[in-house]
Amino acid sequence: MSRTLADTLSAQVTGPVLVPGDDGYDDEVAAFNLATTLRPDVAVGATSTQDVVAAVRAARAHGVPLVVHATGHGAEHPVTSGLLVSTRRLDAVHVDPAARTATVGAGVRWAAVAAAAAEHGLAPVAGSSPTVGVVGYLLGGGVGPFARSHGFSSDRLLGATVVTGTGEVVEVSAAAHPDLLWALRGGKHGLGVVTQVTVGLVAMPELYAGSWTFAAEHVEAVVRGWLAWTATADPDTTTSLAVARFPDLPVVPEPLRGRTVLHLRFARPGDAATGEAVAAPLRALAPVVADEVGVLPVSETARIFADPTEPAASWVGGALLTHAEDDLASAWLAALGPDADHPFLAVELRHLAGATSLDVDGGSAVSGRSAAFSLGVLAVDPRAFAAAPDATARALDALRPWLADESNPNLCGALAPRWHPWTQQRLDDVRHRYDPDGVLRSTGPTNPTNPLAGGEEG
Ligand SMILES: Cc1cc2nc3c(=O)[nH]c(=O)nc-3n(C[C@H](O)[C@H](O)[C@H](O)COP(=O)(O)OP(=O)(O)OC[C@H]3O[C@@H](n4cnc5c(N)ncnc54)[C@H](O)[C@@H]3O)c2cc1C
Repeated sequence: MSRTLADTLSAQVTGPVLVPGDDGYDDEVAAFNLATTLRPDVAVGATSTQDVVAAVRAARAHGVPLVVHATGHGAEHPVTSGLLVSTRRLDAVHVDPAARTATVGAGVRWAAVAAAAAEHGLAPVAGSSPTVGVVGYLLGGGVGPFARSHGFSSDRLLGATVVTGTGEVVEVSAAAHPDLLWALRGGKHGLGVVTQVTVGLVAMPELYAGSWTFAAEHVEAVVRGWLAWTATADPDTTTSLAVARFPDLPVVPEPLRGRTVLHLRFARPGDAATGEAVAAPLRALAPVVADEVGVLPVSETARIFADPTEPAASWVGGALLTHAEDDLASAWLAALGPDADHPFLAVELRHLAGATSLDVDGGSAVSGRSAAFSLGVLAVDPRAFAAAPDATARALDALRPWLADESNPNLCGALAPRWHPWTQQRLDDVRHRYDPDGVLRSTGPTNPTNPLAGGEEG
């Protein structure tokens, strides 16, 4: 079957059509998350929308599932069969400075958009990592360093070229296929193969941002102080807190080896004087080991989180929280603090609300509008992966009074995303309209049927 499918496709597409064992196959299916193996029967390296059309039609005709692969940052579930379309050759970036938009191919990463936009004094509203793919990120919503000032990144999705599950090409905008535009803004999976998107850019001439590192002995003061500060935080300021426990292993750089560190990240578009005044109470929470908060060119936003850029194995879990009152700090410290018994290298809280709570004109499927925080856990030692799901479940149980009903597909890692029941119903309808035979699958977390069931993939 795979040879027949590959032969059919080779005659129809311009890009490479590869089966296991072919030169280039391993490279085509390699994922950023090394813990997940993608081994489809056939991999197609799309070079155009027409290549994608041929792949979708062939998958449908042969009755095999199709997944889309850009960077593999969101690859949580292995692929053992079927057809994979890789988008990395769709790498065009075009900035329209007058319209303040960028039109980019499905294989583009945020770093390329940021560089092209910077030539015109503009910036995308992107995530923490420059190497994440634009389309996969936008489809999940997108919570970045400017979440509170600028909202979910998907709020700036203006249009898309989409190959539906039946192999039709549709140009999506507010005027054409608005139901699909609504769904693409956060509905994540099963909505078609996106080959190009147009996003709004912003001018951010001044930015006061970076991170503070505090020593582990001050964790309680920092967690309590920061969470209390968020209750009345400036709406234009986005902050997040990560606690990382680095193992005492030679692979860990010497200054971090065997140490626990706290990172408090801060980003406020605007002038330095106001930024410094807003930041002052946070800077004073505890003695600062490394102060890297100051005036930052918007093109260097990636320094705020300093996310890893090289592929590595990881297990990620996440949830959304509704509020911080009623002593979230004590519960969080007990469940996930440096002295808690858990297998995670890093645990993180990101402050949301502000602009993330305001829906975009025309509406969106994004989950998390009513959340105040996102919570994430990260394991990188493969020996910890087996224990990670249960440990996450225990932590979420301990945090149940603060847990939101919804969870976001970009931020929930290997867990099932959960949309509001109304959104889930509407998403199911849109998915069925554009992919009636269920050809499209995801390498990431999905939950097509039961939004409130929880647990692993639905
Ligand atoms: C280091 C790191 C940092 C991150 N930081 C953030 C952050 O700050 N904020 C945030 O919100 N998220 C963040 N994420 C999560 C990230 O946004 C998701 O994992 C996202 O799915 C990655 O998209 P990708 O295309 O790069 O990955 P891929 O693994 O290639 O794609 C993941 C899924 O996206 C979908 N997809 C991708 N391309 C297409 C397409 N052309 N058409 C249709 N579907 C497609 C598919 O369902 C695919 O299975 C981060 C992840 C990592 C690993």
